[in-house]
Amino acid sequence: MRGPRRLSQQLILSLTVVVSLVVVANGVIAVRSADTQLQATMLQSVEQLSGAIASSTWHAMLADNRESAYQVMQTIAAKQGIRSVRIFNKEGRVMFSTPRSEVKVVDKKAEACFLCHASEQPLVRVDTPTRARVVKRTDGGRTLAMVTPIYNEPACSNAACHAHPESQNVLGVLDVGLDMKLVDQQVRRIEIRTALFTSLAVLLVGLCAAAFTRRFVTTPLTRLSEATRQVAEMKLDRPIALTSSEELEALASSFNEMRRRLAVAMAELNELTRGLEEKVDERTEQLKVAQQKLMQADRLASLGQLSASVAHEINNPLSGVLNLSMLMQRILKDDGIPKGREAEFRRYLEQVVAETARTGRIVSDLLAFSRRGTPVRSETDLNAIVGRTLSLVSHKLKLMNVEVECALDAALPRVEADSSQLQQVVMNLVLNAGEATRKRETGHVRVSTRATALKKEVVLEVRDDGEGMPPELKERIFEPFFTTKDEGKGVGLGLAVVYGIVRAHDGDIEVESAPGEGTLFRVTLPVHGEAAAAKA
Ligand code: ADP
Repeated sequence: MRGPRRLSQQLILSLTVVVSLVVVANGVIAVRSADTQLQATMLQSVEQLSGAIASSTWHAMLADNRESAYQVMQTIAAKQGIRSVRIFNKEGRVMFSTPRSEVKVVDKKAEACFLCHASEQPLVRVDTPTRARVVKRTDGGRTLAMVTPIYNEPACSNAACHAHPESQNVLGVLDVGLDMKLVDQQVRRIEIRTALFTSLAVLLVGLCAAAFTRRFVTTPLTRLSEATRQVAEMKLDRPIALTSSEELEALASSFNEMRRRLAVAMAELNELTRGLEEKVDERTEQLKVAQQKLMQADRLASLGQLSASVAHEINNPLSGVLNLSMLMQRILKDDGIPKGREAEFRRYLEQVVAETARTGRIVSDLLAFSRRGTPVRSETDLNAIVGRTLSLVSHKLKLMNVEVECALDAALPRVEADSSQLQQVVMNLVLNAGEATRKRETGHVRVSTRATALKKEVVLEVRDDGEGMPPELKERIFEPFFTTKDEGKGVGLGLAVVYGIVRAHDGDIEVESAPGEGTLFRVTLPVHGEAAAAKA
């Protein structure tokens, strides 16, 4: 069983229990000692009474005037408080009894006789307390009885009338019983008084304990706990005052000191945090400025690079066109092309056309590159785009001796994409793959499509068994105008355009390649491009 959980209740209960035990024990002892005291007083009375009966009947007994002796006893026995007066002779015969006894001969082992006849040899002289006994009556009351031996005196043994032999020490026994009603009543009164006092003491102690506990323990503890809670909530401006005891005063003062120090530490911490925040803000601002400058510089550098590349790329064919035009200008006379130089003139003209076409290609590639950020999306079947692109380039690939293998996933989900941009991706990758195998007698290109496990993305793979790329080349292939192809054959914008388109579709492009082991381009596109982009 669990006891009370509150400290005040525990204190009140333990104090009350301890005090109750002490008061009850004290009461029991007081009642017992009062009972013993009263019994001792009664014992004196019964002894005096027995003596008085013995002395007032002495003369009558000596004269063997039994009637007179019994008369005296009868008179004494009638007094209030005397329960019985009996006389037994040596054999235990009841010689006289008041009230009149039914029993004529008592058993020597009976209560009244037992104290002297307990052993074979009866006692002759017994002290006063031993001769007394307390008998519980059937009516619930008690009787204090005392036996007084009647000794054979010389006057008796020598008398002529009825001489008892001299050897007989005890002639009989006087047994006087006093009612203990008054003692019992007094003990009862003391008991009631003690019980009342005990209950009152317990009640008073309980009430005082409750009041003191409340005043000196509960109230200060509640205030302390409230103060602790406020400190936990960081309300550090409320000191606590406890004056009920020295210990609590000391506790309150340590608590206040702790609260004060905490407040100082908190203020310092806040100051530090504020300073740090200011510093962080300042640094962030500086970093932002630096980043902007860097971005600006980077943009300028990229623009510069791009411009230089574009200028270089366009300048070459343009210079060619200019030179050829000047040559043709020199050949051309007023009356037309001189005879015999037509073929030369036509060759120059063809070169002009080729160079101009090349410039046109560069310009259209550049346009594609600059347009990459704005795909016009619609539900697109990537398999259909692959099929269409392959049929467009099939003639070219045949000329390059490239065999194309297709492994398209029939259950490929449609993607939200710009179909013409995707076509450009497939075309650039397939043509690059074909060109990478040009040193082989027969090149092999494998184009495949599939969906990822949760069908949230589609994957396009273009694999070739061409020359492959070393890592340093692989790192640069997506840079605009990076090419390893001969002058006039590659512009270096194909993969830059592919990369731009794939990123604009929120997709990803990976390359696996090693020299002599072919190359794999893997393009991953989200099925729901715009939704995925919004989520991102
Ligand atoms: P270009 O084709 O005009 O050179 P690209 O951007 O398409 O420009 O390609 C850049 C370079 O990447 C190519 O010059 C080539 O060196 C390399 N490259 C592209 N695709 C492959 C491939 N499948 N195998 C090996 N190298 C490749």
